[in-house]
Amino acid sequence: MDYSVIADAYEKIEATTKRLEMTDLLVDLLKKTPKDVMAKVVYLTQGKLYPDFMGVEMGIAEKLAIKALSRASGQSETLILSELQKNGDIGQTSEKLLAKRKQSTFFSRKLTVEHVYETLDKMAKTSGSGAVDTKMALLCSLLTDASPNEAKWIIRTVTANLRLGIADMTVLDALAIAYGGGKESRELVERAYSISSDLGRVADVVVEKGLDGIKEFQVVVFEPIRPMLAERLASPEEILEKFGGKCIAEYKYDGERVQAHKKDGKVVLFSRRLENISSQYPDAVELVKEKFDAKEVILEAECVAMDLETGDMRPFQELMHRRRKYGIEAAIDQYPISLFPFDLLYVDGKDLTLEPLPQRRKELERIIKKTDRVTPATHKLVKSPKELEDFFEEAIAEGCEGLMCKSVGKDSVYQAGSRGWLWIKYKRDYKSEMTDTVDLVVVGAFHGRGKRVGTYGALLLATYNDKTDTFETVTKCGTGFTDKDLATLHETLQKHIIPKKNSRVVSLMQADVWFEPSLVLEILGAEITLSPIHPCAMDSIRKGAGLAIRFPRFTGKYRTDKSPEDATTSKEIVEMYRGQLKKISESPATQKG
Ligand code: ATP
Repeated sequence: MDYSVIADAYEKIEATTKRLEMTDLLVDLLKKTPKDVMAKVVYLTQGKLYPDFMGVEMGIAEKLAIKALSRASGQSETLILSELQKNGDIGQTSEKLLAKRKQSTFFSRKLTVEHVYETLDKMAKTSGSGAVDTKMALLCSLLTDASPNEAKWIIRTVTANLRLGIADMTVLDALAIAYGGGKESRELVERAYSISSDLGRVADVVVEKGLDGIKEFQVVVFEPIRPMLAERLASPEEILEKFGGKCIAEYKYDGERVQAHKKDGKVVLFSRRLENISSQYPDAVELVKEKFDAKEVILEAECVAMDLETGDMRPFQELMHRRRKYGIEAAIDQYPISLFPFDLLYVDGKDLTLEPLPQRRKELERIIKKTDRVTPATHKLVKSPKELEDFFEEAIAEGCEGLMCKSVGKDSVYQAGSRGWLWIKYKRDYKSEMTDTVDLVVVGAFHGRGKRVGTYGALLLATYNDKTDTFETVTKCGTGFTDKDLATLHETLQKHIIPKKNSRVVSLMQADVWFEPSLVLEILGAEITLSPIHPCAMDSIRKGAGLAIRFPRFTGKYRTDKSPEDATTSKEIVEMYRGQLKKISESPATQKG
C-alpha cells in the first residue's frame, strides 16, 4: 500500500472538525487498506506502532528531527528553526522545505506503508550507543524518499505530534461501518477492544473473519482488559434501591489499581491506564507468582502502601515513591505494599468476564493463598441501609476511602471498559456538602500576570463526555498551585501545546494557549452551578446552560494514573449537581416547618 494513500487521508481528516466526517474519511481509508497491513494502518493512524500496553515509544526529540530534515532538505538548521518559530509546526516546516528541494531532486523510490512502518519500528527499537546516529540515518532515508506532503506526516508521526484527533472510539465506529456490516455492530467490536486493548488485533479479526470472529474474540493473558468502573451515589438508600435491595459491599482501598497477568511463571502488572508497571512493584510481582494457586491468571487488586509493623494502611501518596527508574530496591523497603485482590477475570483457560460477580469472587477465594500481604478485599453481603452505613464506618475506620458496592444479580458481569451501575462507589467526600473531588483534563491555559509571569495564571479544565467523545470545559482554575506546581505544569504542558483548539475540545472560552488533552488533575470544587460559559453537559439541566464548578482548587494530586478519557464525565457532573440540589432541599435550614 502506498504511503501517499495514508498521507492524503490524513490531510482530509485534519481539515475537518466534524466527527462524522472524520469517521467517514477513516472508513474510506480502512476500505482501501489491504488486509495484511490493516493493523499497521490502524496503529499509525493513532500515531503508534503497537498497542499502548506494549510500551514502545515512538517519539524522537524535535532536535533530532530537525537535524534529519536539514540533511534531507539541504537547508541549514538555523533556517529550519526560524521557519519552525514562524508556524510552530515541524510537520508543515518539513513540507515547505522539502517542496523547495523538489525542483532539484528526484524521489528515489515510492514509499509504501510497510516500508515506513518497518523503518519507524527500527527507530523505536534502536537503543544504546550510536542510537542517535542510527535513528537519524533512518529518518533521513525516509525523508529523502518522501514527497513533501508525506514528509509532513512522517515527521509528525515520529515526533509524536500527529494531531489528527482520532480517538479509539472513532476507530471502532469506522471498523464497525467498514467491516462489521454497520454501526449496529459497534457494541460487539467495542467489547473485543475492551477485553484486548488492542485496536490492531480487533481490526485484523474483523477484516479476516467479520462479526463471527469478533463474537468469538478471546481474552488473552498479557493483553490487558480495560477496567470496569463505578458510578457514584451519596446515600445507602439510593445504592440499595439501585441494586434491588441487596449488594456486596467491599472496602474501597486507597491505593493503585493493578491488573495482574500470570502465565508460565511470568507476571506482568498493568496500571489503571494499562501501562506496564511491573518494574515499580517487583514485590507485588513476586506475590502474584507465589500466592495464587493457578497457572494462568488475570486478576485485579488494589495495591496499597502499608506499615508492615502495625499492619496499618498508608496514604495513596506514598506509592508515588515507587514511580522511579532507579533505587527501586530502597523504595521497596521504605514503602512496602500489600495486595487486596477484588476480582478474577481469567483462570487456567477460562474467561470469567461474563460470569456473575459471586462466581468470580468464589473462584478468587479458591485460588488465593492468603497471607497478611495478600488478602481478598474485605466484603459483606448487605441488605439494609443500616448494615451498609455500619460497614462504611468500619471501612473508614480501617483507613479506606469508603465502599465499592457491587451488584450480585445474574447480570453482574465484568463490564470491561465501561462505567456503569453494576458497581457504585460510596465515599466520605460525598457526604460533606459540595466538596467532592473530580478529575479534570487540562485543555487550555491563561498566561500568568504579576508574580505568575512566565508561568500559567490559570488552567482551563474539562470533563469527558463519553457519549460524544469530547472534552467539555467546566471550570477555570488558578488556586491550589504551589510555586513548584506552577513551574512543573508550565514545563510538562509545553509538549502538549497545539496551535488551535483540539477538535475534541468543546469550549466557549478563548484560552491563551491550547493543549492536546492529556494531563488529568484532581480538583476540589465548592459547588456546581448552571453556567452560560461552560458547555459541560450543555442543555441537560436547562436549555442553553451548561454546568460549571465554582471555587475550584487543585488538591495537589496529579492523576497520572488516568488518561483523559478516564476523567470525571459530564454525566457524573450532572449527577453531582442533582445530588447537591437534593442535599440543599433536604437540609434543615431550607425545610419548611
Ligand atoms: P476515584 O477517583 O474515586 O478513586 P476512579 O475514578 O479512579 O475512582 P472508579 O472506578 O470511579 O475509579 O473507582 C474505583 C477505583 O477504586 C478503582 O479503580 C480501584 O482503583 C479502587 N478500588 C479500591 N477498592 C476497590 C474494590 N474493592 N473494588 C473495585 N475497585 C476498588
